[in-house]
Amino acid sequence: MKILIVEDEPKAAEYIRQGLAEGGYAVEVQHNGTDGLDAAANGDHDLVILDVMLPGINGFALLTALRTSKEVPVLMLTARGATDDKVRGFNLGADDYLVKPFQFPELLARVRALLKRGQSHPRDSNVRVADLEIDPVRHRATRSGQRIDLTAKEFALLTLLAQRAGEVLSRTQIASLVWDIHFDSDTNVVEVAIRRLRAKIDDPFEAKLIHTVRGVGYVLEHRG
Ligand code: CA
Repeated sequence: MKILIVEDEPKAAEYIRQGLAEGGYAVEVQHNGTDGLDAAANGDHDLVILDVMLPGINGFALLTALRTSKEVPVLMLTARGATDDKVRGFNLGADDYLVKPFQFPELLARVRALLKRGQSHPRDSNVRVADLEIDPVRHRATRSGQRIDLTAKEFALLTLLAQRAGEVLSRTQIASLVWDIHFDSDTNVVEVAIRRLRAKIDDPFEAKLIHTVRGVGYVLEHRG
């Protein structure tokens, strides 16, 4: 596992580098944003630990540039109380953040979690249930290789059900996750959407994937 640290304060960089090296990771350190971006974009690191305040280009600019070409997990180091930094970092594609100053075990826990997440989610992020395949990146759904045209909400609903295949989701849960509606009374919208979705993904095919669980909600699963 290779980790890149982009941190301009020598003491902080060395503290992190030493701890991670002792933890068995291969560590590279860059001390400014320009070299950091160059190393991150051209290297094969499993994780980047990125300070926000950097000489050259700052952490946000580095992250923006990096995300045009790379999906490598990024842990941002932000200053205490800078909530805006946290929000901004997430919006730009950071995977986690840690507020300075921090204790090393805290950093190590985040690093381990991010590396583990990276391993369990390979690049192919497609969701498959039986002959249904959803490509969340390209916003495409197919059954038996046949393209199915869906509205944005239908696509979100199908993706939710497929990602949690085999799990019964209540109308209230679905309403809050897909429509951001938090009232029991509005779940009729879910029933209507499920009906439309079924017409597209189940009706034309023999094997039905969306099932109603009476009095509870819906489950997407292949019942062979
Ligand atoms: Ca700094």
